[in-house]
Amino acid sequence: MSRVQVDADLCVGSGACEALAPDVFEVDDDGVLVVHRPEPGEDDMRDVTDAVRSCPTRALSLAE
Ligand code: SF4
Repeated sequence: MSRVQVDADLCVGSGACEALAPDVFEVDDDGVLVVHRPEPGEDDMRDVTDAVRSCPTRALSLAE
C-alpha cells in the first residue's frame, strides 16, 4: 500500500491536489494541507497519482 507524504516546507496551499482528489486532500481555512487518507485505497490511487504529479511545488510524494 502506498503512503502519501507531504513536505510541508514546500506546500503553498494552492489546492491543486484537493481539486483532483478531494476525498484525500483538503486545504483548511488556514491554508494548511490536511491529508484525510494518508494510505489511499485502490479506488483513490488514480486521482492521488494525478495530484502528486500536478503539485506545482512537488510537495507530494508516494512511498511504499
Ligand atoms: S498541490 Fe501541492 S502545493 Fe498545492 S496544496 Fe497540494 S501539496 Fe500543497
